[in-house]
Amino acid sequence: MDCLFCKIINREIPASIIHETDNILVFDDINPQAPIHKLIIPKEHISTLNDINEGHKILLGEMLLTASELAKKLGVSEPGYRTIFNCNKDAGQIVFHVHMHFLAGRTFNWPPG
Ligand code: AMP
Ligand code: ZN
Repeated sequence: MDCLFCKIINREIPASIIHETDNILVFDDINPQAPIHKLIIPKEHISTLNDINEGHKILLGEMLLTASELAKKLGVSEPGYRTIFNCNKDAGQIVFHVHMHFLAGRTFNWPPG
Protein backbone atom coordinates (compact mmCIF):
# COMPACT_ATOMS: atom_id res chain seq x y z
CA MET A 1 0.00 0.00 0.00
CA ASP A 2 1.37 3.39 -0.93
CA CYS A 3 0.97 5.02 2.47
CA LEU A 4 3.70 7.18 3.97
CA PHE A 5 2.89 6.33 7.58
CA CYS A 6 2.61 2.58 6.85
CA LYS A 7 6.11 2.89 5.38
CA ILE A 8 7.33 4.51 8.61
CA ILE A 9 5.69 1.69 10.62
CA ASN A 10 7.43 -0.88 8.40
CA ARG A 11 10.77 0.97 8.66
CA GLU A 12 10.81 1.51 4.89
CA ILE A 13 11.39 5.22 5.42
CA PRO A 14 13.11 6.76 8.45
CA ALA A 15 11.47 8.69 11.26
CA SER A 16 12.45 9.82 14.71
CA ILE A 17 10.46 7.21 16.64
CA ILE A 18 10.06 7.90 20.34
CA HIS A 19 7.53 5.28 21.46
CA GLU A 20 6.10 2.05 20.12
CA THR A 21 3.64 -0.61 21.27
CA ASP A 22 1.98 -3.51 19.45
CA ASN A 23 -0.75 -1.09 18.37
CA ILE A 24 0.68 2.38 17.99
CA LEU A 25 3.75 4.38 16.99
CA VAL A 26 4.83 7.87 18.09
CA PHE A 27 7.37 9.94 16.16
CA ASP A 28 8.42 13.52 15.53
CA ASP A 29 6.53 15.50 12.91
CA ILE A 30 8.95 16.34 10.08
CA ASN A 31 7.60 19.90 9.83
CA PRO A 32 7.00 20.91 13.46
CA GLN A 33 4.42 23.62 14.15
CA ALA A 34 5.52 24.00 17.79
CA PRO A 35 8.66 23.29 19.83
CA ILE A 36 7.15 19.85 20.51
CA HIS A 37 5.20 18.27 17.67
CA LYS A 38 4.70 14.50 17.73
CA LEU A 39 2.40 12.26 15.75
CA ILE A 40 0.61 9.37 17.47
CA ILE A 41 -0.58 6.84 14.90
CA PRO A 42 -2.26 3.43 14.92
CA LYS A 43 -0.27 0.65 13.26
CA GLU A 44 -3.47 -0.41 11.55
CA HIS A 45 -4.01 1.52 8.35
CA ILE A 46 -7.16 3.60 8.78
CA SER A 47 -7.48 6.41 6.23
CA THR A 48 -9.53 8.97 8.13
CA LEU A 49 -11.64 9.34 11.25
CA ASN A 50 -14.61 8.62 8.98
CA ASP A 51 -13.35 5.04 8.74
CA ILE A 52 -13.27 4.16 12.44
CA ASN A 53 -15.78 1.78 13.96
CA GLU A 54 -16.72 0.14 17.27
CA GLY A 55 -13.80 -2.24 16.87
CA HIS A 56 -11.36 0.65 17.15
CA LYS A 57 -12.48 1.87 20.60
CA ILE A 58 -9.56 0.33 22.50
CA LEU A 59 -7.05 1.50 19.91
CA LEU A 60 -8.34 5.08 20.03
CA GLY A 61 -8.30 4.96 23.81
CA GLU A 62 -4.67 3.87 23.73
CA MET A 63 -3.85 6.83 21.50
CA LEU A 64 -5.40 9.28 23.96
CA LEU A 65 -3.77 7.60 26.95
CA THR A 66 -0.45 7.82 25.12
CA ALA A 67 -0.94 11.57 24.64
CA SER A 68 -1.57 12.03 28.34
CA GLU A 69 1.47 9.93 29.31
CA LEU A 70 3.63 11.69 26.72
CA ALA A 71 2.67 15.03 28.22
CA LYS A 72 3.82 13.84 31.65
CA LYS A 73 7.07 12.49 30.24
CA LEU A 74 7.80 15.73 28.39
CA GLY A 75 6.81 17.90 31.37
CA VAL A 76 4.00 19.74 29.58
CA SER A 77 0.95 18.43 31.46
CA GLU A 78 0.63 21.60 33.49
CA PRO A 79 1.41 24.31 30.92
CA GLY A 80 -0.72 22.33 28.46
CA TYR A 81 -0.70 20.90 25.01
CA ARG A 82 -2.99 20.41 22.06
CA THR A 83 -4.14 17.23 20.33
CA ILE A 84 -5.65 17.36 16.86
CA PHE A 85 -7.10 14.95 14.32
CA ASN A 86 -7.52 16.52 10.90
CA CYS A 87 -10.16 14.83 8.79
CA ASN A 88 -10.30 15.36 5.02
CA LYS A 89 -9.94 18.47 2.92
CA ASP A 90 -11.56 21.19 5.02
CA ALA A 91 -9.37 20.30 8.01
CA GLY A 92 -6.22 20.15 5.89
CA GLN A 93 -5.54 16.40 6.12
CA ILE A 94 -2.64 15.57 3.80
CA VAL A 95 -1.61 12.11 5.02
CA PHE A 96 -4.46 9.63 4.77
CA HIS A 97 -3.49 7.38 7.67
CA VAL A 98 -5.20 8.44 10.90
CA HIS A 99 -2.86 10.38 13.17
CA MET A 100 -3.16 12.47 16.30
CA HIS A 101 -1.02 15.60 16.34
CA PHE A 102 0.49 16.30 19.78
CA LEU A 103 1.69 19.90 20.04
CA ALA A 104 3.26 21.66 23.00
CA GLY A 105 5.87 24.19 24.04
CA ARG A 106 4.04 27.39 23.15
CA THR A 107 0.57 28.91 23.54
CA PHE A 108 -1.99 28.11 20.86
CA ASN A 109 -4.75 30.31 19.53
CA TRP A 110 -8.43 29.52 19.89
CA PRO A 111 -10.39 29.33 17.70
CA PRO A 112 -7.81 27.64 15.45
CA GLY A 113 -7.25 29.01 11.96
P1 AMP B 1 -2.20 16.27 8.37
O1 AMP B 1 -2.26 17.61 7.70
O2 AMP B 1 -3.07 16.22 9.60
O3 AMP B 1 -2.50 15.14 7.41
O4 AMP B 1 -0.75 16.13 8.91
C1 AMP B 1 0.24 15.33 8.34
C2 AMP B 1 1.51 15.61 9.08
O5 AMP B 1 2.48 14.65 8.70
C3 AMP B 1 2.10 16.98 8.80
O6 AMP B 1 2.20 17.72 10.02
C4 AMP B 1 3.46 16.67 8.19
O7 AMP B 1 4.47 17.59 8.56
C5 AMP B 1 3.73 15.28 8.72
N1 AMP B 1 4.65 14.49 7.91
C6 AMP B 1 4.64 14.34 6.57
N2 AMP B 1 5.63 13.51 6.18
C7 AMP B 1 6.27 13.13 7.31
C8 AMP B 1 7.39 12.27 7.58
N3 AMP B 1 8.05 11.63 6.59
N4 AMP B 1 7.79 12.11 8.86
C9 AMP B 1 7.12 12.76 9.87
N5 AMP B 1 6.07 13.55 9.67
C10 AMP B 1 5.64 13.74 8.43
ZN1 ZN C 1 -1.15 3.66 6.28
